[in-house]
Amino acid sequence: MNIDLHCHSTVSDGTLAPAEVVALAAQRGVEILALTDHDDTAGLDAARCAAVSAGIDFIAGVEISAGWRGQSVHIVGVHIDPADAQLARELASIRVGRLRRAERIAAALEAVGIRDALAGAQRFAQHASLIGRAHFARYLAEQGYAADSHAVFQRYLVPGKLGYVAHEWAQVGDAVRWIRAAGGVPILAHPGRYPFGTAVMHELLQCFKQAGGAALEVLTSAHDAGDVRRFAALAREYGLLASHGSDFHDPNHEPFGPGSIGALPPECAPVWHDWPAAQRLAEHAASAH
Ligand code: AMP
Ligand code: MN
Ligand code: MN
Ligand code: MN
Repeated sequence: MNIDLHCHSTVSDGTLAPAEVVALAAQRGVEILALTDHDDTAGLDAARCAAVSAGIDFIAGVEISAGWRGQSVHIVGVHIDPADAQLARELASIRVGRLRRAERIAAALEAVGIRDALAGAQRFAQHASLIGRAHFARYLAEQGYAADSHAVFQRYLVPGKLGYVAHEWAQVGDAVRWIRAAGGVPILAHPGRYPFGTAVMHELLQCFKQAGGAALEVLTSAHDAGDVRRFAALAREYGLLASHGSDFHDPNHEPFGPGSIGALPPECAPVWHDWPAAQRLAEHAASAH
């Protein structure tokens, strides 16, 4: 089964419009797709329409920016109701925070001689308020401050570098509860990316589970084989299901498009195990044999 539960569009920091993400996913054989833009659900209607024409099962999603021990931690929610009033309100408030943070990033860059970075970054953002480090990275790369946006991140935008500013994101437990209250399934995104030691990772998993967290993203483009084994084992230990998402952003800078990046380890219980769309696919695959 080709399932992707984590993808970005121009609504947040991806470079393809929602319908283009769906078209590329369809071309790559994706059968079940969630669009999960950072802190915004504005792409879901267009993506759903495109998915209907492409014959893909579409899932409404979001990736909420949260904080844990001073680091940002992302909670993907799938099967959310984007019209849920609390979720919509909280996402709007995170977007206001993003804009405030962007002003502070621009001030930090200004202090090292990089002028007009806010306006520059906003040229790469579709919505003024859904502005993130990736938009700054694209602007700084365009201006020649580094070879490409990945190099800009390493030089300016990661913790410890001059253009990085700390920010108060949502609480992990709150993000999980908003997703649950909106009918969604909370998934801890790319756990292998967080710079936590074992004890802090366990505390994060306990908090996530206790708040109603459902799954760990075991397979994602940021994970190597060791991460996959480690988080498959942690998912079992915590009674969490396993998810699978490419975290696709940009066809020009990523080896993975939307779609399958391999299979979950066999010991994993997939988060989609009881979803009707996945069951239909499984039955279809079985009857084809
Ligand atoms: P933000 O939510 O604005 O802090 O930005 C986080 C986003 O920046 C992630 O979702 C990625 O798209 C991107 N990102 C984070 N770290 C890196 C990195 N080291 N290199 C390239 N992109 C990154
Ligand atoms: Mn991103
Ligand atoms: Mn993320
Ligand atoms: Mn993501």
